[in-house]
Amino acid sequence: MTFELSDRVQTVPPSGIRRFFEIAEERDEVISLGVGEPDFATPWAARDAAITSLEQGKTSYTANRGKRELREAIADYVANRFDLGYDPDEEIIVTAGASEAVDLAFRAFVDPGDTVAIAQPSYISYEPGVIFAGGDVLPVPTTEEDEFRLTVEGLEEAGAADADMLVLCYPNNPTGAIMPGEDLEPIAEFAREHDLTVLSDEIYAELTYDGEHTSIATLEGMRDRTIVFNGFSKAHAMTGLRLGYALGPANAIGAMNKIHQYTMLSAPTTAQYAALEALDSCADDVQEMVDQYDRRRQFVLSRFREIGMDVFEAKGAFYCFPEVPEGFTAEEFAEGVLREQGVAVVPGDVFGGSGEGHLRVSYATGLEDLRKALNRIEAFVQDHA
Ligand code: PLP
Repeated sequence: MTFELSDRVQTVPPSGIRRFFEIAEERDEVISLGVGEPDFATPWAARDAAITSLEQGKTSYTANRGKRELREAIADYVANRFDLGYDPDEEIIVTAGASEAVDLAFRAFVDPGDTVAIAQPSYISYEPGVIFAGGDVLPVPTTEEDEFRLTVEGLEEAGAADADMLVLCYPNNPTGAIMPGEDLEPIAEFAREHDLTVLSDEIYAELTYDGEHTSIATLEGMRDRTIVFNGFSKAHAMTGLRLGYALGPANAIGAMNKIHQYTMLSAPTTAQYAALEALDSCADDVQEMVDQYDRRRQFVLSRFREIGMDVFEAKGAFYCFPEVPEGFTAEEFAEGVLREQGVAVVPGDVFGGSGEGHLRVSYATGLEDLRKALNRIEAFVQDHA
């Protein structure tokens, strides 16, 4: 018997990244610049706190919204780092990764038929999340010309004035674009004018290489209409511990917590102990990783330029987004360089139509492998010139 699947599940295609991992698995000696996670291990102090909590038998559920101590530490951290003020009792929820927080938000705020505008290219989970919640997706393309920043013209052209919600992610996965405060101002004005709720995924907020991150929630009139997502996966290299959080007005976080209570109960307890320590004592480890990413970023950008591939100056996260040479689609290039040279990168169209013609190249990989991978990409380009 084949199981009968819901229309919502059937509407969503399987992840486009998977196919490349499957090809990669067939080959030996593949260097992967395809993954979106740090190559560093979680800072030792955070691992140690997790181990100690286990030794002490701290293995029960926590409060649904997360340990109060952790919510307090998050409130202090986002206040100090990003000028964001949230009440740990009512306005913060700790989740199983930022992924859970994003899903909770769609389910808490999207009704069937609601339109959710998504700045694209974008992280691959937003569109399925909207569909699972019964909403309609409105892609808002961004372009290389604008350094993949969201613009009011782009929003207007896409028809986002009639949308109910806007999703943005800066620093961006997959492009590495950032949005400085002055570029966010007109977007905030647009959201206020057209009464849009904003979901701002700021999971890469620590990973900026040209000035500090600005959260759209800090701009005038935005706090009440914005949910901010963040977490420990990227900056603290804690992907496998599954810990994230959302910040927002009390009634919004309360609604998200209602779903969380029934579906997750509480985020992983061991990870909450690790996160508490990460915020308490790991700022230097984060800075060290950021410095390394920056060195790799500069190396990768300069190598692509030497190879003759156009690449815009990515200034955040750990991705760059070069253009494929003429004569290739993104998918052809990615498949070719994987089969012929054993380098895995992700074709940009996986992240939305406006990513076509580009590759997402992650530099969350050691310099030695980056060097080899870029040499192989160069050989591939020369072989097909
Ligand atoms: N948001 C963005 C933009 C991401 O790139 C990722 C992971 O790649 C996530 C969220 C998921 O984060 P987490 O591991 O906290 O669920």
